[in-house]
Amino acid sequence: MKIKEKLQLIKEGKISAEQNIKNFLDEIDKNDKKGKKINAILQLNNNALLEAKEVDSKIKNGKAGRLAGLAIAVKANINVKGFIINCASRTLENYKAGYDATVIKKIKQEDGIIIGITNMDEFACGSSGETSAFGPCKNPASLNRIPGGSSSGSAAAVAAGFCDLALGSDTGGSIRNPASHCGVVGVKPTYGSVSRYGLIDLSMSLEQIGCFSKEIDGAELLFEIIKGKDEKDATSVIFPEKKEYTFEKRKLKLGVPKIKADEKILELIKDKVKEISNKEKWKTEEIKLKYIDLGVQTYYPINYVEFFSSTRRYDGRKYGKKIEESCGDEVLRRILGGKEIAQAEYAGKYYRKALQAKRLIEKEFDSALKKFDCLILPTVPKLPHKLGEKISVEDMYNYDSLTVLANLSGVPALSLPVGKIQGIPIGMQIICGKFQEKRMFYIAKKFETLQNL
Ligand code: GLN
Repeated sequence: MKIKEKLQLIKEGKISAEQNIKNFLDEIDKNDKKGKKINAILQLNNNALLEAKEVDSKIKNGKAGRLAGLAIAVKANINVKGFIINCASRTLENYKAGYDATVIKKIKQEDGIIIGITNMDEFACGSSGETSAFGPCKNPASLNRIPGGSSSGSAAAVAAGFCDLALGSDTGGSIRNPASHCGVVGVKPTYGSVSRYGLIDLSMSLEQIGCFSKEIDGAELLFEIIKGKDEKDATSVIFPEKKEYTFEKRKLKLGVPKIKADEKILELIKDKVKEISNKEKWKTEEIKLKYIDLGVQTYYPINYVEFFSSTRRYDGRKYGKKIEESCGDEVLRRILGGKEIAQAEYAGKYYRKALQAKRLIEKEFDSALKKFDCLILPTVPKLPHKLGEKISVEDMYNYDSLTVLANLSGVPALSLPVGKIQGIPIGMQIICGKFQEKRMFYIAKKFETLQNL
C-alpha cells in the first residue's frame, strides 16, 4: 500500500495505528532474528503498541500529526531517549541516550512511532553493513548479498517491510548506497538543511541525517518534517522556501556526467534517461566534469581527520570504553590514519590538499547545477558483493566514488530504484543544486512513474 493511501486510511480510522505497528512487529518477529535472519534491528521499542494506542485516541479526537501511526526505524547513531545508541560498536555498547535528537523530537511531535533502532556499520565507517559489532545485516532483496552501508539496517528494514520509513545518516553515501542495493528510496539532503543535534557524527562537515522510504512521497514527507534551522546546531540554516517555481512549467535539462562504472549499470541508467526524456520531452546532455574522479581521494582524508578528532571523547571515562581497545579494524584504521594525517608535518600534504580539492569539486558542481536542473548518475558503480566475501579496502572505498561527490559539494542527492541486474536492485542518483529538494523530488517522481511501483 502506498504511504499516502495508508495515512488516509489511518486518518479515517479504517486502519488503526495499533494494527499498523502490530503488522510490522509480527514481520520483524518472523524475519529479523528468525526466518530470513535479516538482522536489521538492534533494539525494538517495547512500548510501540502502547504509543500506537495513544495515537489512535488522538486520531479520534482529530488531533493527530502528519506522521500519525507510521512506524519509523532509526539508525543506531541518532539519539532516541531511553534507547541504547551504540553506533553498532562495543565501545558504546551500554550507552543509553538521555535525550532525543532534534529530528526525533520532530517525528514524535507529528505522532510518528519509533519502532526500533537499526543496525549499521560501526560508527558509520563502511559501505557494506559488515563492520557492525553485532553481526552483518542481510540484503532483503538479495539475501546472499550485502545490503550496503553504513545505514544498512535502516535500508533493510524498509525493504523487508519492518517499518514505513527510516532515518539514516549520509557522510559519503551511507543512505544512498544501501538504498540502491536494497531497492528503496534514500535521500541525503542539502548540508545544513537538517539539524545534526543528537547525531553521533562520523565526519561533521560532510554528514547529514536523511530518510528512507519505499516511495518518493514517503521520503519527501519525512524530509519536510525533519528539515529546518535548529538553534542547537550551528551548522543548520533556515531552509529557503521559494513560493514560485518555474521548473514545473518548463522542459527540464538533465546533465549526465561521464563516469566510470559497470557497463550494465551505465546501460540501465542510460535507458531510463532516454525513456524519461521521450516521455516528458526533457533535454539531456552528456557532460564532462574535470574533478569528478577525485571524490574518493578527497573524501577519505577529510573523513579520517574529522573522525579521529570526534573519537577523542571515547577515552573510557565519560562514554563507554576506550575506543582503541574496543573497536573493530575499520574504525581503528581511521583513528590511526586520522592521527597521522592530523600531525603537523602531514597537514599541508593531505588534509589541506583535500580541502582544496573539495572546494574545486563544490565549485564545479555548483556551476553544472546552474546549467542543468539535475545531474543523473548511478548511485553505486558496481554490484554489491556476496556476504562474507573478502574485498580490499580500496574496493570497499570505491563503492563510494559516485556518492561522496554530493557530500563534498553540500548538495542534495537521492537514490531511486530503477531496475535489477541479476536480480539485484540498482539505484539511480539524482543530484540537484543546494536547497533544491523540491525540484529533486519532482524529478524523482517523474522517474518513479516509469517503474510502476
Ligand atoms: N562508506 C563511506 C565511509 O565509510 C560513507 C560512510 C557514511 O556515509 N557514513 O566513510
